[in-house]
Amino acid sequence: MLIVGDVLVSDELFERHFCCDLSQCHGQCCIEGDAGAPVAPDETAELSEYYPVYRKYMTKEGLAVVENGGEPFVFQHDEFQTPLLPGQGACAFVFYEDGIAKCAIEKAFENHEIPFRKPISCFLYPIRVSRVGKYVALNYHHWPICESACQHGDALAIPVYVFLKQPLIQMFGEKWYQELCDTIQLYQKEGIR
Ligand code: SF4
Repeated sequence: MLIVGDVLVSDELFERHFCCDLSQCHGQCCIEGDAGAPVAPDETAELSEYYPVYRKYMTKEGLAVVENGGEPFVFQHDEFQTPLLPGQGACAFVFYEDGIAKCAIEKAFENHEIPFRKPISCFLYPIRVSRVGKYVALNYHHWPICESACQHGDALAIPVYVFLKQPLIQMFGEKWYQELCDTIQLYQKEGIR
């Protein structure tokens, strides 16, 4: 583990490779699982504010879930989460394009209709964020459905922290990300933690 500022960084973030290959996994992370994606408290306002814009990309089933629940998020297990379709692991914001599961919120972002891409927990996947005392901890989450991303990442030699440069900068800033790169380089060259 490395410590960069107030952040604990698991070795797996620089020792493992990762690069999503949607042609292989078909975006399965959006339709599998037994809980919605974590939503940070300050993201609930954005999910609500931009719902009238991104709702046009959602399926009828997803719209019914949000509109019956009254909000585009739920509060479960002590945190806000994205809502799931009834009896399924699929996120209520999922729609399909050429057989690939995609995010309605991100679609509106990519079309420059809203300034919010999606919850940071989705953008950062497979990094999971937790709190350890005064530190924020970043760990790699193993999920067999992402095996193709591990193989693709190995083929391209892209470490997890490089693949997730954009969301890491969004969460911690450019300066922190540069410090992360320098710390990893120093460790890999000289073994200094
Ligand atoms: S996180 Fe995993 S399931 Fe989701 S797009 Fe990437 S490889 Fe596919």
